[in-house]
Amino acid sequence: MNAGMVTAAYIVAAILFILSLAGLSKQESARRGNLCGIAGMTIAIIATILSRDVTNYGVLMIMMLIGGGIGAYLASRVEMTQMPELVAILHSFVGLAAVLVGFASYLDPDLALQGAEHTIHNVEVYLGILIGALTFTGSVIAWGKLNGKIGSAPLMLPNRHLLNLGIGVACLILLFVFLGAGKGFGTFLLVIMTLLAFAFGVHMVMAIGGADMPVVISMLNSYSGWAAAATGFMLSNDLLIITGALVGSSGAILSYIMCRAMNRKFLSVIAGGFGTTDASAAAAGDVEQGEVVPTTADELALQLQDAQSVVIVPGYGMAVAHAQHPVSELTKQLRANGVDVRFAIHPVAGRMPGHMNVLLAEANVPYDIVLEMDEINDDLADTDIVIVIGANDTVNPSALDDPNSPIAGMPVLEVWKAGQVIVSKRGMSTGYAGVDNPLFFHENTRMLFGDAKDSVNDILKAL
Ligand code: NDP
Repeated sequence: MNAGMVTAAYIVAAILFILSLAGLSKQESARRGNLCGIAGMTIAIIATILSRDVTNYGVLMIMMLIGGGIGAYLASRVEMTQMPELVAILHSFVGLAAVLVGFASYLDPDLALQGAEHTIHNVEVYLGILIGALTFTGSVIAWGKLNGKIGSAPLMLPNRHLLNLGIGVACLILLFVFLGAGKGFGTFLLVIMTLLAFAFGVHMVMAIGGADMPVVISMLNSYSGWAAAATGFMLSNDLLIITGALVGSSGAILSYIMCRAMNRKFLSVIAGGFGTTDASAAAAGDVEQGEVVPTTADELALQLQDAQSVVIVPGYGMAVAHAQHPVSELTKQLRANGVDVRFAIHPVAGRMPGHMNVLLAEANVPYDIVLEMDEINDDLADTDIVIVIGANDTVNPSALDDPNSPIAGMPVLEVWKAGQVIVSKRGMSTGYAGVDNPLFFHENTRMLFGDAKDSVNDILKAL
């Protein structure tokens, strides 16, 4: 394939990627968006394979088979609840790829650039490796925190901000020394900078508490995009630059939207430490809060028969219990009985943005009754029954009432304003942020203890 045809194919792929992002912004068009992304990526891969830069097809095919095989195996086995972990580890691959391509590009004996071009290429290599390295280790730590292999509590080293600043300044000084260095010493400096960036990535994510993980994931998504764009500059590959910029900027916009949804400042999230001050006081389970009143599926079924309006608030527990199908069935039955049923989705419910929407769509819950927090919060006071299914932090009133709570200031679904609140969960455990929830002790709250799937099935039976 000549260079002109490759460029044309890349332009088509770039347009498909933009259409893909546009499609993914709404549930109704998300499937189409995914198809555009798949088509764009297929065109991009085929055009790259057929381009004149590729000569060793044997090695390429073997690597594609290994990579594709591992990807297909992982994707087919992953549970919906493990999706954020998968996304995090995939970001780490992008980061590692940027580091490896950076070193390969720097050491490439065929590349004989001179003067300004040489300097620009070296800056690209340096930045690509820097962003790639911190994306790599940061994503590995995020993966560990999400799957519980690493505790979600923030690591608070003494003088941690100074430490980060020190690494940043050291990397900047190394850049200037690197630009004047020969190949041998330059490689040594690159290795030192890579180790510093690895340490920075680990420290940055270790210092971030559980409740801020969603922002970290989308921030690492953004970094992986910039790492890919830097790789595109190193390899002079326009499509990689465009794709990297799309991922980088959309990740940054998503991080911003999520920070706004959690009433957090982006910089304070990155600086870490959320969930540390007085967290122990708020999270201590031994504080006397009042009495918990349990209920049964039969009792709830009776109440549901009299209700006019019901709002269902799903959370991480619904995903763990795989309760979305019975929940969808319950919705159908109640709607058939003339009850107005709607869903209230908190922006960070579950373990990744859009987690609940994906599960409900999978269970064929109609899109038009699935509402975002801002759209439904004001209606909760006029709702007869709110059923909270495996949600906890996202319905915690202490976010609004208790300035010392680790989640203070985070907007939450104000479910306690409804006539009656039913909380389906297995016991009295805390949610992801590790803080107690006074909602469970409110006088209009009833606890439906048990696995969410079993509980909803019991309600269905009783109905
Ligand atoms: P939470 O993590 O606050 O709470 C989930 C609750 O589900 C737990 O209290 C647990 O209680 C219950 N549960 C677990 N398994 C079951 C089961 N099988 N049946 C019934 N209940 C179950 O969930 P939310 O969705 O309310 O909040 C999300 C939290 O995760 C927020 O703190 C958010 O910041 C964080 N987060 C969000 C991400 C995102 O992008 N959405 C990413 C990373 C973190 P019990 O054990 O007693 O049953």
